[in-house]
Amino acid sequence: MIGEVTEVSSFFENEPQGFKSDNIFVNACLICKTNLNPLATLKELKNIEKKMGRKKNNGVYKDRIIDLDIIFFDKLIYNSDKLTIPHKEYKNRSFVLIPLKELSPFLEN
Ligand code: AMP
Repeated sequence: MIGEVTEVSSFFENEPQGFKSDNIFVNACLICKTNLNPLATLKELKNIEKKMGRKKNNGVYKDRIIDLDIIFFDKLIYNSDKLTIPHKEYKNRSFVLIPLKELSPFLEN
């Protein structure tokens, strides 16, 4: 359990970016309150992915049942071999930026 989800964006259908697939991807952002630290949060996200049937992709981008990332964690800047916050790629991903913009703390950005 990570915590209470306080906001959820719309769900957007997108073509996959960076590889080809016959499937459409669905992307959304949410805000969650948590008492966990960032690494414990990442661990829980990985547990959720596993429970939902996510298979290891060994660094290769391909279709997946679920992909959960941390984009921001309050105003924290964090860097380790396992986790980078803010997420390294979010600015380059319209499928993140568009749902992110719907969430209230980000509206004026
Ligand atoms: P993914 O392909 O999204 O499952 O992520 C692969 C790996 O990226 C994860 O196992 C994490 O160790 C690492 N990672 C680094 N920064 C982040 C982040 N901000 N959110 C999620 N995963 C991250």
